[in-house]
Amino acid sequence: MSKLVMIGNVPLGGGNPIVIQSMTTTKTSKVDETVAQIEALIHEGCEMVRVAILDEEDARAIGEIKRRVRIPVIADIQYDHRLAILSIKNGIDKVRINPGNIGSKEKIKELVRAAKDYGVPIRVGANTGSLKYRDRYPERWIALAESALEEVRILEELEFTDIVISAKSSDVMETIKANEYIHERVDYPIHLGVTEAGIYETSIVKSSIAIGHLILKGIGDTLRVSIAGDPVKEVRVARKMLIALGKRKGVEVIACPGCSRAEIDVEKLATFVENAIGNLKIDLKVAVMGCVVNGIGEGKDADIGVAGVRDGAVIFKGGRIIERVRLEDLNKRLKELIMELKEAKT
Ligand code: SF4
Repeated sequence: MSKLVMIGNVPLGGGNPIVIQSMTTTKTSKVDETVAQIEALIHEGCEMVRVAILDEEDARAIGEIKRRVRIPVIADIQYDHRLAILSIKNGIDKVRINPGNIGSKEKIKELVRAAKDYGVPIRVGANTGSLKYRDRYPERWIALAESALEEVRILEELEFTDIVISAKSSDVMETIKANEYIHERVDYPIHLGVTEAGIYETSIVKSSIAIGHLILKGIGDTLRVSIAGDPVKEVRVARKMLIALGKRKGVEVIACPGCSRAEIDVEKLATFVENAIGNLKIDLKVAVMGCVVNGIGEGKDADIGVAGVRDGAVIFKGGRIIERVRLEDLNKRLKELIMELKEAKT
């Protein structure tokens, strides 16, 4: 089991649930925009958020952002230890910085002193895009893992152990091997992710394989699914991944692929259900099936299901039809029934 590290009031590691995180795309000092984006991420299930700190304005904005959002905020800083210290003094909950990039030993000590004084953990790590020790090792994934571990050693020498570690490659196998290697050597919480994972479908495939494999092996304490574009998508995918892995409660919408027997637009209705209730934190399985021929039988394990018929749709539970609905009333009625189920379950 990994060591417990507190990120604000959220426990990371120590056998606690895997934490979903994401990163804002707004200029951090534009506080209203940043807070609005964080709220949208929280709505989808984000439990920790990283913001980029590019200058003093960003670092000073942390105080107000922290006052307005209820999840831990992490400062992402490249090179400049003064920005890290300023972020710490403004109430940040964790800093993402590599001490090896800061420069002099004195600067590293200054940062570590501030982190200790304020009880702020540091995430260190390596990405294949910015590998420092590629030439030292025969394989890139070992260089990736060792680069991350090198950053850990710098902090440990200064008796700082409030550490989270990450090793990310855009290659699935490299990500898997590097994280397994790290997991065998240190017990700090591991932040999982595939870096530069690409646009939607590509990232989902790569992230699901790499992160899913590691989580099934008991590796990983927090994750970020990196997807180009709106970070809300990252959080949705991360939640679905954890639900599919049995690590989270959540709504699962199963839907048939549709075929020439389909009497309703399966994709449209399943999308409606996802958007209406996809972020509820209860175990609920909803089936959306194109027809009654196979739909009711195949969807009988669901808490509630809908199947198309010639003149509308039927709603079923446990393989039995409970109601017939006209298509124009279907969305509204289905949502009502799901909400009744939700009330009964909470
Ligand atoms: Fe086709 Fe009906 Fe099966 Fe959907 S449930 S794939 S519509 S047979």
